[in-house]
Amino acid sequence: MRALIERVLQFLLPSQCHCCERFLEEGQKGICPDCLSKIRWIEPPLCTLCGAPFLSREIENHPCGACLTRRKYFTMARAVGYYEGPLREAIHRWKYEEKSYLTSFFGEKLAEGFCHYWGPGSFDLLIPVPLHSKRLRDRGFNQALLLAKELSQRTRIPYSKRLLQKRISTLPQVHLSGRKREKGVKGSFHIQRDEALKGKTILLVDDVYTTGATVNECSKVLLKAGAERVDVLTLAHAIKIT
Ligand SMILES: [Zn+2]
Ligand SMILES: [Zn+2]
Repeated sequence: MRALIERVLQFLLPSQCHCCERFLEEGQKGICPDCLSKIRWIEPPLCTLCGAPFLSREIENHPCGACLTRRKYFTMARAVGYYEGPLREAIHRWKYEEKSYLTSFFGEKLAEGFCHYWGPGSFDLLIPVPLHSKRLRDRGFNQALLLAKELSQRTRIPYSKRLLQKRISTLPQVHLSGRKREKGVKGSFHIQRDEALKGKTILLVDDVYTTGATVNECSKVLLKAGAERVDVLTLAHAIKIT
């Protein structure tokens, strides 16, 4: 029903940019050229583990301080853009109101990131970071699942939305520090069928990498269930390292 109303409104009203709300000109779709040009895509040098971009351009890729001091269960995490400016705005809107333009735009960008860092044949399975059923009911959709579906269509790697589940509803962790986030997510994920993961290479998919506590906990649970390797791909990365 909501999709139908959205379509009727789209037909009646001139469409607006999903980032800055400026009315779009004829031929423009979803995001205006100005916002598109302001999105910063992540480039090296990066942390070899968590993928955090380093500010200094003069250095080589290497593990960042946070990855050297805290164990990471995933082998490598990569993100496509910086979580700031128009990309942050677009992700934020899309989280609370699904926009089909953004779903496919993000899917395309994720697929580009995937081809850049990995490539065909790298994984057996895509797994979205799950939402607890209560949050899912409130929101109506899981943004990570939408991304995994989009990526699956473009890479032909199957995705599973049931193998990894969230059993404890944690509060949104936006304001917590890394250590508190780690504690907050501990024990909140579980696997439905261990045997489906044995020896499998997994790519975890989510929208934003913040401290990495959530994807790290998911990776730990997946490895424990027998997965051979877990990597992470997110649309955006929220941390910049000096
Ligand atoms: Zn705009
Ligand atoms: Zn790192």
